[in-house]
Amino acid sequence: MKSHSIIPIFLPELACPHQCVFCNQKNITATEKLPSEKEVSEIIESHLKTIKAENRTCEIAFFGGSFTGLPLHEQEKYLKLAAPYVENAEIEGIRISTRPDYINDEILSLLKQYHVKIIEIGAQSMDEDVLRLSGRGHSAEDVRNAAKLIKEGGFILGIQMMVGLPGDTPEKTYTTAKEIINLGADGTRIYPVLVIDDTELAEMYKAGDYEPLSIEEAVLQTAPIYRLFEENGVMIYKCGLHPSEFLYNGKLMAGPWHPAFRQLVQSKNFLDKAEKLLEDDPEIKGFEVNPSDINAALGFEKGNLKVFQMKNTEFRILQNANVKKGEIHALHT
Ligand code: SF4
Repeated sequence: MKSHSIIPIFLPELACPHQCVFCNQKNITATEKLPSEKEVSEIIESHLKTIKAENRTCEIAFFGGSFTGLPLHEQEKYLKLAAPYVENAEIEGIRISTRPDYINDEILSLLKQYHVKIIEIGAQSMDEDVLRLSGRGHSAEDVRNAAKLIKEGGFILGIQMMVGLPGDTPEKTYTTAKEIINLGADGTRIYPVLVIDDTELAEMYKAGDYEPLSIEEAVLQTAPIYRLFEENGVMIYKCGLHPSEFLYNGKLMAGPWHPAFRQLVQSKNFLDKAEKLLEDDPEIKGFEVNPSDINAALGFEKGNLKVFQMKNTEFRILQNANVKKGEIHALHT
């Protein structure tokens, strides 16, 4: 199977009329500008050269802001640059991200006309209090309406959520994930909330009105929803943030940032499953997993392996291509 690449086009959110408490849009607005048509074409062409040389499939992604919050003529300007690459079969499709309240029939027909395939909306939570306390400026009903229109329009639907927002609880987080599944999401992104300098959340944090999750808490709250998404066939595009995704937006003041957050979450889920197997069968001497699961199985800095080796120094976690992805094969010798 060919590997898949994304050609990212970053569109900063200029003068966003909203005030999400975790976002420092003042910094973005002050330091960024929308790319010109020439710049966008250059980004696409330079990525395509490498992608073609390596024989990979790819898509163009307009990231960074609420794409459909741009005036229609601006959206069309960017889509017109990307669409010919889909028509010439040089790329597989176009992906955009936006807010749920920036979706309507007119916008969707423009996106359809220019071959947009995947639409990701930032729900962040499906709890009205959490949305209000987070200053999102949209309701859970907006997310439901947008999801319905996107699915009816035949697009692939992504719904992003955050963990640890003001007023959030593990139960509300889990309920949000369940509703995202029920809305028919094909994919999701899970972002633990970080406190960024010069944001309303930073002020709340300094005043003692907001306590960010620790890394351990964020992992504990994310692990069950990660499992739920997997069990329901929702692709997890992303779990945790890459520094490049928030550092442009100000300094990290506090919060559960970890360079291998996704691995921590996957490892926790593996550990829970493996411990259950060992509980039922104490004779197990090791596990085999598919090579693609080995990092999750071993754990960050081999943390899981160390847990098992505390009880049995000979305990092994090995990779075996014959084991199906996601499954665990117990070893008794
Ligand atoms: S996160 Fe909220 S405030 Fe920041 S750019 Fe997006 S919609 Fe605007």
